[in-house]
Amino acid sequence: MTAQRVGRKRMGTEKAGCGPLIPPLSESGRPLRQQIFERVRAAGSMPRVQVARELAISPASVTTLTSELIDLGLLEETTAGGGDGGRGRPAVALGVRADAHHVAGIKLSDREHTAVIVDFAGNLLADVAVPRRPGPLELAAIVESTETLLAEVCAKAGVDRAALTAVGLGVPGFVDSQSGVVHWSPILSAREVPLGQAVAARIGLTVHVDNDANLVTLAELWFGAGRRLSDFAVVTIEHGVGMGLVLNHRIYRGAQGLGMELGHTKVQLDGALCRCGQRGCLEAYVADYALAREATTALNWGGREAQPMNQLLESLYDHAKAGNGAARSIFHRAGRYLALGLANVINLFDPELIILSGERMRYDYLYANETLAEMRAMALNTGQPTPKIEIHAWGDLLWAHGAAALALAQVTENILGATRDLAA
Ligand SMILES: [Zn+2]
Repeated sequence: MTAQRVGRKRMGTEKAGCGPLIPPLSESGRPLRQQIFERVRAAGSMPRVQVARELAISPASVTTLTSELIDLGLLEETTAGGGDGGRGRPAVALGVRADAHHVAGIKLSDREHTAVIVDFAGNLLADVAVPRRPGPLELAAIVESTETLLAEVCAKAGVDRAALTAVGLGVPGFVDSQSGVVHWSPILSAREVPLGQAVAARIGLTVHVDNDANLVTLAELWFGAGRRLSDFAVVTIEHGVGMGLVLNHRIYRGAQGLGMELGHTKVQLDGALCRCGQRGCLEAYVADYALAREATTALNWGGREAQPMNQLLESLYDHAKAGNGAARSIFHRAGRYLALGLANVINLFDPELIILSGERMRYDYLYANETLAEMRAMALNTGQPTPKIEIHAWGDLLWAHGAAALALAQVTENILGATRDLAA
């Protein structure tokens, strides 16, 4: 890419206009029907007058549009609002028809595959987790285990697989969520794998793929601490370091869907070698292979290469807890680099909250008080408090829930969204 100098030349009498040129019926101009539906789903239930108030539209428009949504079988009238409908009648509210659609959310990972079934109102109907041997797999093997997993979770939920509207699928690595192509993943033996397409062809359902850090962010946005927040970040430490960012209540992916790779932002010029092939990435100082590399040297663990990573890290952690100076210094150093990464996130995005998640958060050295103090020292010094940092429960079930949210969002978009209107 070359930098271009863009002139300010104006052509003849042509009116160039000013202000952002937003494509018609785009994300920022979602159809009113969709806005109503999403508002009702988020609230759980909502009377029509409140819909009118919140969207600043006339009660007559609300009546028309909600009738359409009821006719489509997406909303239903409920009396669960608890308010007074006048003259002793129960107040009528609107709620999502939970059985209108069912979706599956699946998280594929190095140590287990997890799946959930969720209804259209977001209720969890069933979940399963199947442990696996770590290591990269061929596409055919991944497709096979995805299908098996899906059959199992459908049986548990009592939902016919063919009755699912969509499947959300999460994998670690670099994922193009638009095309469903996985550029690179530690669980796949090849690069540029058309995972979404392959799974869709096998199971005969629409499949939406995303990277796992975005899924845990979606889980927080749809079901967790992010529901009320406009701008927040989730930083995950598992096998690598991931990040998801929500701006204005929407997940941000970047122009090519490759944004937010915090693990591969550089924290050292010509620094430690990263598994992406470049040097100086944050991940090369914080991820488990970085800790293992240091442990091998400092604790003279040269003979342990064959040991599973989890076991090696556990014994490193045990050594640190028992007061071993070298082991402690390895975690502290990783924590300081994480602090540097978090300070960069704060200085770039100024989020309201940063949620730390992922399996490695059980190593509490990574977010010890002195680590967070270093983070604050590297954030812009304005006298304002730095964002809240929260350590959240982690686990593949949460990530699978995020995959279900991805599927729910896409199904809603396909039924009510602007892209549907454009395609029509
Ligand atoms: Zn890297």
